[in-house]
Amino acid sequence: MTSPQPRPNVAAIPTYVAGKPPAPREGLTVYKLSSNENPYPPLPGVVEAAYAAASRMNRYPDMGNADLYGALSRKLGVPTEHLALATGSVALIYQLVQAFCEPGDEVVYAWRSFEAYPIAVTAAAATSVRVPVLADGRHDLDAMADAITDRTRVVLVCTPNNPTGPAVSQSDLDAFLAKVPPHVLVVVDEAYVEFVRMDDAIDGLATYAAHDNVLLTRTFSKAHGLAGFRVGYAVGPEPIAGALRAVSLPFGVSSVAQAAAVASLEEEAALLERVDALVVQRDRVVAGLREAGWDVPEPQGNFVWFELGDRTAEFAAAADELGIVVRPFAGEGARVSIGEDEANDRIVELARRFG
Ligand code: PMP
Repeated sequence: MTSPQPRPNVAAIPTYVAGKPPAPREGLTVYKLSSNENPYPPLPGVVEAAYAAASRMNRYPDMGNADLYGALSRKLGVPTEHLALATGSVALIYQLVQAFCEPGDEVVYAWRSFEAYPIAVTAAAATSVRVPVLADGRHDLDAMADAITDRTRVVLVCTPNNPTGPAVSQSDLDAFLAKVPPHVLVVVDEAYVEFVRMDDAIDGLATYAAHDNVLLTRTFSKAHGLAGFRVGYAVGPEPIAGALRAVSLPFGVSSVAQAAAVASLEEEAALLERVDALVVQRDRVVAGLREAGWDVPEPQGNFVWFELGDRTAEFAAAADELGIVVRPFAGEGARVSIGEDEANDRIVELARRFG
C-alpha cells in the first residue's frame, strides 16, 4: 500500500533559512544582524494595546480586521476594498501566487532577491523565472521585461532589494510598467519603503493608483519593528486586493497583532524618528565600509550586502568572532542588518579586518 503522497512540487520547495539566533557568549554582547529586524522594541503604547487585546484571547479575532483596515485606509487615503491584510507580507506573496497562477504559469523576479519568492512559487506549482541582478545589485528591469512570456502571470519587483540593497527609481519603474502587458500583475514589494532616501524614489501609492495591474506589499515588521506580530498589507486595485482577501486564512491576523498594528500607526511620528536614526547609522556604516575599500551596493533598506563569493563562510565566522550574527548566502555573500550603535561599529570593524 502506498502512503499519502504530497504533490511532486512540494518536495521541490526550497528551505527558508531563518537568521540564526545569537548564542550567548561570556563577557560579550552578541548582536543578531541576520533578519533585517528593527533593533528598537515596540513603543510602550503598542505593547499596552497588545496586552489589552491579550486579555480577550478566549475570543476569535475580528475576522474583518475592521479597526486595522480603517486605520490603514485613513492613513494611506485609499478605500478599504483596495487593501488586503495578512500574517506578514510573506503571506501576501504566497496568496498572490496562489490566486493568480495555475500550475506551470510563470512568475518573473530578480535573483538574488527575497528567498521566500521561490518558496511561494514552487508551493503553488508555478514556475520561477529568475533574472540576475546587475553587477551593482540593482534589478535588470529591461531583462525582466524581456523575460515576460504568454505564461507570465506575476512579476515581483523587490525594492529595496533584499539582500543586495538598491531600490528601483520611479522613472525606471515607469519605463518598465510601460512594457508590461496589462494581464501581468506587477507586485512592488516595499517591505523597506520607509528607509528609502534617494532622488526619484518610487511613489508607490501614486503608481498603484495609475495602473490596473500594480499591487504594493508592505509590512509592520521592519520600520514599525513588529516582526513578531506578523502583520503585512497589500494595496492594489479592488479586483486584485479582493482576490488576496478571498484566499486568505480565516482569522489569520490575531487580535493582539491587529491591536498592535493600529496602535503603531497612531505612533507613526515616533517610529519615523527611529527610522531616521537607523538611516543615519546605515549611512555611517556604508561610509566606513567604503573607506575600508569595500565596493558595497547602494543600500536603501536597513541592511548592507557584502559580495564575498567563496569567502562567505569565512566572513560569517569572522563576524561571529566579533559578536555579530550575519546572514550568509553560501558562495555569494552576506547580508548584515543595521542594528544597535555598538553592533554597527562592529560591522565597520569587521569590514576593516576582513578587507
Ligand atoms: N519582502 C521582503 C523583501 C522581505 O525582506 C521580507 C522579510 N525579510 C518580507 C517581504 C516579509 O516580511 P514579513 O512577512 O515579516 O512582513
